[in-house]
Amino acid sequence: MTRKQRFEHVIAYFEEAMPDPETELLYDNPYQLLVAVILSAQCTDKRVNMHTPALFERYPDIPSLATAEYDELFSYIKSISFPGNKTRHLMGMAKMVEEKFAGEIPMTVDELVQLPGVGRKTANVITSVVDNQPNMAVDTHVFRVSARLGLTVRAKTPLETEKQLIKYVPTGLVYKFHHWLILHGRYVCVARRPKCEECGLKPLCPYFQKVMKAEVVKRK
Ligand code: SF4
Repeated sequence: MTRKQRFEHVIAYFEEAMPDPETELLYDNPYQLLVAVILSAQCTDKRVNMHTPALFERYPDIPSLATAEYDELFSYIKSISFPGNKTRHLMGMAKMVEEKFAGEIPMTVDELVQLPGVGRKTANVITSVVDNQPNMAVDTHVFRVSARLGLTVRAKTPLETEKQLIKYVPTGLVYKFHHWLILHGRYVCVARRPKCEECGLKPLCPYFQKVMKAEVVKRK
């Protein structure tokens, strides 16, 4: 099977299995999505969602966040991982959006990555989800699942994975593809013991054929 055919099969499978994949972070506007994605670094979406409603009520927009007091803001996110760094990132992000981008959340990757707490992955998420730009965000799930499915070959970094995926995924499907791999990685193709028994991609999965097949037979 060529790589192009592999992508075609995977896309056809997910189009059927998950026609409308979406981020699991709760948000109503670009400001809220940016804050939620910054908070979700090394933390689960579920935990972030537990705390953002109160946070957004107290800090509903960039001006309110830009004038936040460290201790008070910290108290709203103290149960999220790395609360100290994230408090500083949120305050710095809001200040920079006000001072450098006239209060508007910028919508290019090059501009977004200038904001504190925003790396390439976050910038790709924001621009693809909010503005439908064909930017592939690669997190740990996308990185792992792509490699297992043979969609990437010897990719050593998220950027290499991003470049290989972008080459084959049709522009209009980049946003969906990112969510497909995240959700598949979160619930089925999990890191330690992938649930291959319930995975419809088994027949074309090199990782299953080489590593998991014997393991699954043993589990029965
Ligand atoms: S068959 Fe197993 S390893 Fe391959 S994608 Fe499915 S869950 Fe992951």
